[in-house]
Amino acid sequence: MKQNENAIDLRLLSVGSLKGVGPVIEEKLANKGIGTVEELLYFVPIRRVDRGNIKKICELSAGEDASLMATVDSYRSLFFRHARKKGYEVIVTDETGYLSLKWFQWSKGYLEQICRKGATLFVSGRVGQFGEFLQIVHPSVTVLAEDDGPEKAQMVLPVYSQVEGIKQGVIRNIIAEAVNAFNSGPICVLPGKHEERHSLMPFPDAIRSAHGLDGAFDEARSAASVKRMILEEYLQFQITLMAKKRKAHKEKGIAFKTESPTLERFLKGLPFDLTAGQKRVIGEIISDMGRGSPMNRLLQGDVGSGKTVCAVAGACAAIDSGFQVAFMAPTEILAEQHYLNVHRWFGDLGIPAILLKGGMGKERKEILKKIRSGAVPIIVGTHAIIQSDVEFHRLGLVIIDEQHRFGVDQRKRLKNKSFYPDVLNMSATPIPRTLSMVIYGDLDVSVIDTLPEGRQAIKTIVLSEDKRDRARVMVEKELRSSRGVFIVYPLIEESETAGLRNATEMAGHWQNSVFPEHRVGLLHGRMNTKDKENIMEMFRQREIDILVCTTVIEVGIDIPHATMIIVENAERFGLSQLHQLRGRVGRGPEASRCVLLTSTARTNLASKRLKIMEKTNDGFTIAEEDLRIRGVGDMLGVRQSGLPPFRIGDIIRDIDIMGQARRIAEDFTNTLSDRELQELMKQIGDRFEDKQALSDIA
Ligand code: ADP
Ligand code: MG
Repeated sequence: MKQNENAIDLRLLSVGSLKGVGPVIEEKLANKGIGTVEELLYFVPIRRVDRGNIKKICELSAGEDASLMATVDSYRSLFFRHARKKGYEVIVTDETGYLSLKWFQWSKGYLEQICRKGATLFVSGRVGQFGEFLQIVHPSVTVLAEDDGPEKAQMVLPVYSQVEGIKQGVIRNIIAEAVNAFNSGPICVLPGKHEERHSLMPFPDAIRSAHGLDGAFDEARSAASVKRMILEEYLQFQITLMAKKRKAHKEKGIAFKTESPTLERFLKGLPFDLTAGQKRVIGEIISDMGRGSPMNRLLQGDVGSGKTVCAVAGACAAIDSGFQVAFMAPTEILAEQHYLNVHRWFGDLGIPAILLKGGMGKERKEILKKIRSGAVPIIVGTHAIIQSDVEFHRLGLVIIDEQHRFGVDQRKRLKNKSFYPDVLNMSATPIPRTLSMVIYGDLDVSVIDTLPEGRQAIKTIVLSEDKRDRARVMVEKELRSSRGVFIVYPLIEESETAGLRNATEMAGHWQNSVFPEHRVGLLHGRMNTKDKENIMEMFRQREIDILVCTTVIEVGIDIPHATMIIVENAERFGLSQLHQLRGRVGRGPEASRCVLLTSTARTNLASKRLKIMEKTNDGFTIAEEDLRIRGVGDMLGVRQSGLPPFRIGDIIRDIDIMGQARRIAEDFTNTLSDRELQELMKQIGDRFEDKQALSDIA
């Protein structure tokens, strides 16, 4: 495209091929993740120093960054007896005074260049005070020829993030060398015509400017040039996603019949009306399934928004076309809950469903036989479904609940059990639209943005520890109406962090000291599955009134009579996580409450952060806020999905650039034929290919 055919591919050129880069420096750069010339050029400075502010020595004052021209007057080595430290000092002068330059680390060659009496130096650095004298420690020095003015020196000094074992001056020279040797810069995927159309700085100019190599200091221009570089990388990423999506849409999959009598009967039999969101999503799913290419859709919807119904609608269509459906959930509790629903719904329709989980003993063999023969069209289960001995007769649709809880490999294995099944991923983790464009950019995304009618908003209050008695009173009130209460703790055992309550100890406290007349149960992650199930079942059957637990209470668990949840040490949780915890209640017709207890010593920031939970029940708003405050790394679900390995830029700070990249990439790829897009992908390479967890299932 833009690059000429013979241009050297800087992605393949090792930094070792640059002048001045020997094996030692090469290794040090490699430790910093810089191996190729392209990677080196993307290593942009953290700041730039303006050398245009040139002063006379008499004008200098301690504490300022300054540049000056001076000649060498004398030099000597120093020894500090107390510190047992050696140093080197050069005294320079202009007609207005003397200044000391000091080094505590130096290379011989470097000082030999500088230490010639009468040599003219262009010096920059932070001015300090030593006794009565002014000095600059480790200044940046350019040796000028007799009649040269300072304009011969680089007027902008880029400052790079520390590369262990390489001095700033050296890294500066290496990069300048690379920029000058490869004028056209690394690969830029956007043809000049499109650069112009979107008013973008030409890419090679951006590289030069970002490294401070294009003349006078201009911070605005430098910032714009770094943005241009970030955009280039994001563009390559977005184009990769688009190419992938285009390819997936061309793959041959199953074209299911979209007329489905079972689906009609299923919808008619539901005891409620579908929400507008559900109707739209079911339409999207069925239309995907009707196409000849495999569906790869992500269904996002807040807890309780009714995603399961939509998935089951898809299942009806698959079954009517003679295919099997695998419905996979991340835990046994959830798998069982889905199974109960599916079993009930399909039972009414005369369609057998089966549950497959770990450790089913003799029964397992029978079940596997039924799956292999095609006798059961719908199989609900945990990851037991992807064990190698499970063979399907004719798998057509895969539904994955809480997809981010599964690893890439697990999802891949399920997919490999059939040729090109349609895949519906479901997630109750609202991910801000901006971010979902990064993580799920190559998937088709459906969002259920409406909750079923009559669903009561969960009333939330933030209380500090010292008001916990108010929480107790509220619990009592719920219990009097024989409703269930969750009390959630961040940890299960005594932790070294003082003051952190824990579930095990506190279950005893609630039982013995607070509610002796009620039944308190305990649920935590270290209990075995059977015990966990028993406790959940007892809670469901109202044999337990208060369930003290850690965060093991699963996403999506349905206990309709549970109407209150108390979260202790709420400041320890992320907002999205709190929102998910809160979703354990409010699943029945009664009004529900959530109390967020915070330690009394909480910071103002923590309480301000939690206040948003009182204000909104909208998971997307909360996720947006969480993202802003805590960053991507902490967001639920995102960590597991993995972010692409970007060289520069920060997904949060630069999310607008990502949006811009997406628009430009769309605009650009729309003009490309399949062949042209393929060619472009050859240039971009596979850097972003397998980093995309979800797309691996496509
Ligand atoms: P999600 O998986 O999105 O958290 P579910 O599919 O488990 O939500 O649905 C939560 C509850 O709401 C279930 O009991 C379900 O039967 C019920 N439900 C689903 N859709 C509706 C609707 N349109 N109106 C009323 N209740 C609904
Ligand atoms: Mg669910």
